[in-house]
Amino acid sequence: MHATSDTLALIGNTPLVRLKGPSEATGCDIFGKCEFANPGASVKDRAALFIVQDAEERGAIQPGGTIVEGTAGNTGIGLALVANAKGYKTIIVMPETQSREKMDTLRALGAELVLVPAAPYSNPGHFVHTSRRIAEETPNAIWANQFDNIANRRAHIVGTAEEIWAQMDGRIHGFTCAAGTGGTIAGVGMGLKAKDEAVCIALSDPHGAALYDYYACGELKSEGSSVAEGIGQGRITGNLEGAPIDTQFRISDEEGLEWVRRLLAEEGLCLGLSSGINVAGAVRLARQLGPGKRIATILCDTGFRYLSTLYNPEWLRAKGLPVAPAADAA
Ligand code: PMP
Repeated sequence: MHATSDTLALIGNTPLVRLKGPSEATGCDIFGKCEFANPGASVKDRAALFIVQDAEERGAIQPGGTIVEGTAGNTGIGLALVANAKGYKTIIVMPETQSREKMDTLRALGAELVLVPAAPYSNPGHFVHTSRRIAEETPNAIWANQFDNIANRRAHIVGTAEEIWAQMDGRIHGFTCAAGTGGTIAGVGMGLKAKDEAVCIALSDPHGAALYDYYACGELKSEGSSVAEGIGQGRITGNLEGAPIDTQFRISDEEGLEWVRRLLAEEGLCLGLSSGINVAGAVRLARQLGPGKRIATILCDTGFRYLSTLYNPEWLRAKGLPVAPAADAA
């Protein structure tokens, strides 16, 4: 690979890996898109870059301007690194329930961090509404608005979907992932359907999210809860409008956690819980489509971002989640 003089060119073009355990468990070929290999270590670098480029193209942001966003963390990290490379400032609003590692990473990147209590979307103090207000009150600032700004899903239509199609030589039967903003599932879904209408697009929804019921029976309804960060949506965001979802699964934290642990122990991949939920969904989709099929999913972010939570036995016990056998023995 030749040298690049632009650090932002490091975003995207991530590797695709065949996941041995999930493939052997189903008789299918299940592939993971290694989004943890982006410079900010998550899938959200793509959306961050497209949102900033879109604002520049529209003339919405001026040199030295500020980008404000409400985020579970990963979009903030992506925006902060894009902003640093382009000479902008960032103000990031985040619920205080998110991992310590994400907060430390944002501070290290130079973002101004505003922590707010976790609140329902209907509450004006919700991180999304708080970030919009701060953007309105800050001179020369834009609100990234990742949930409803479709520059987000465009990153996955022209980037992620094209890459998966090329990396799988156009031989793909199914794709699944969870939704936070919905940019990834909608964008990859639209991109793959444009190549081949027959590719089955499946939503893997965590407990506590309302999209499973919406796609299954037309009603936004949730049950239970999840500790997975960055996923679990309660409304049809701008990015989810028109998303081509063919089928849907509801995946528990325990089921996702089991795959996180197997992928680490058997394949050396250290991932966050949304990746485990995606792989659990890919296994369900493989069983639904039958043996011999080729299925892709997203490995959203690095597990190093959750050492104090997912990989911490005390935290797991406090959340009532099973502790990994090796960690228990330690
Ligand atoms: N996993 C993680 C860890 C995330 O941070 C996000 C983004 N919120 C997602 C999955 C979901 O991506 P999207 O916003 O594109 O639906």
